[in-house]
Amino acid sequence: MDNKIITVTSPLLPDLKEFDKYLEDIWQRKWLTNNGHYHQELEKALADYLGVKYISLFTNGTLPLITALQALRITGEVITTPYSFVATTHSIWWNGLKPVFVDVEEGTGNIDPEKIEAAITPHTTAIMPVHVYGTPCNMARIQEIADIYGLKVIYDAAHAFGVTANGKSVLENGDMSTLSFHATKVYTTVEGGALICRDEATKKRIDYLKNFGFANEVTVVAPGINSKMDEIRAAYGLLNLKQVDSAIAQRKHIAELYRKALSGITGIRLLSNEEGVRHNYSYFPIFVTEEYGMSRDALYEKLKENNILGRRYFYPLISDFPMYRGLESANPMNLPIATKLAQQVICLPIYAGLLDTDVERIISLIV
Ligand SMILES: *Cc1c(COP(=O)(O)O)cnc(C)c1O
Repeated sequence: MDNKIITVTSPLLPDLKEFDKYLEDIWQRKWLTNNGHYHQELEKALADYLGVKYISLFTNGTLPLITALQALRITGEVITTPYSFVATTHSIWWNGLKPVFVDVEEGTGNIDPEKIEAAITPHTTAIMPVHVYGTPCNMARIQEIADIYGLKVIYDAAHAFGVTANGKSVLENGDMSTLSFHATKVYTTVEGGALICRDEATKKRIDYLKNFGFANEVTVVAPGINSKMDEIRAAYGLLNLKQVDSAIAQRKHIAELYRKALSGITGIRLLSNEEGVRHNYSYFPIFVTEEYGMSRDALYEKLKENNILGRRYFYPLISDFPMYRGLESANPMNLPIATKLAQQVICLPIYAGLLDTDVERIISLIV
């Protein structure tokens, strides 16, 4: 047995000598946070790279979700998906709002637009979908429904760094989109995140909100929070931006190896490649169906015994956690597809630096 432990992801690390130069510069400036030199530089560089106009940096990927709901003054009920990382629903809860779960599409794992209307009540004010595994949601249909009912749309785009649909960034859809730069994501600043909005006035409001609501030294215009990205993480992010394209290319290569080897296997379902989408290959989920010779959990354990640490992502569903399972919309009968996906999924290791020989070993344990 191979003793090397392979995890589902491994962080993107900047060159240490380069990082040292940035640190020396920060030490000389003695300006560590509060919209510093590198913060401003990273904001500009990311706007450029992502093809978005208005972006604000945050200290993680959860605070932009919480802040988006604040900035848009969302009240009452927010329609969202149970098939996501818990932060999506937690951000709704932290605003004192009621999450309403809607089932997902089997083909993508994204919220099913055709099931949104049935979940709308007089209290509904917003929809919070997630681009699961970086696959774009059916954004045109979601916007159509939002427009009819006068709802705001906030996309949790934590998985969708750099993803474009028909040549346009997915982040330019809805009223706002959020990113996470956590160490496990395609692009990382160790911890970090961003909020993308549509106009300058809204960006200004977001920037107040992430700095306690301060508009100037003596004026507080909103009950803000502290979620400013510091200079050290911004410098880390600037360096990683230089190598993220190469990291995505390596991920693409690994995804192709998996796809080639696993697409014909009975009982293993893969997500299909969407047309017109530039993907970031942030995850490689497989869905273990009944036709496969063993259960999902048995395969997960088999991989683990061989030092391959896949991740059942997303399992359990958010709607199954104790603080949400009492909600009417959390009933598994309301969420049959999400329930099935959560029981079938394993995300396989995929990251820049993962060797072909390791990918082949993982494949050989599955086929
Ligand atoms: C990672 C992630 C978040 C939260 O990001 P953090 O940076 O860890 O706070 C939110 N939503 C989704 C879908 C995520 O994957």
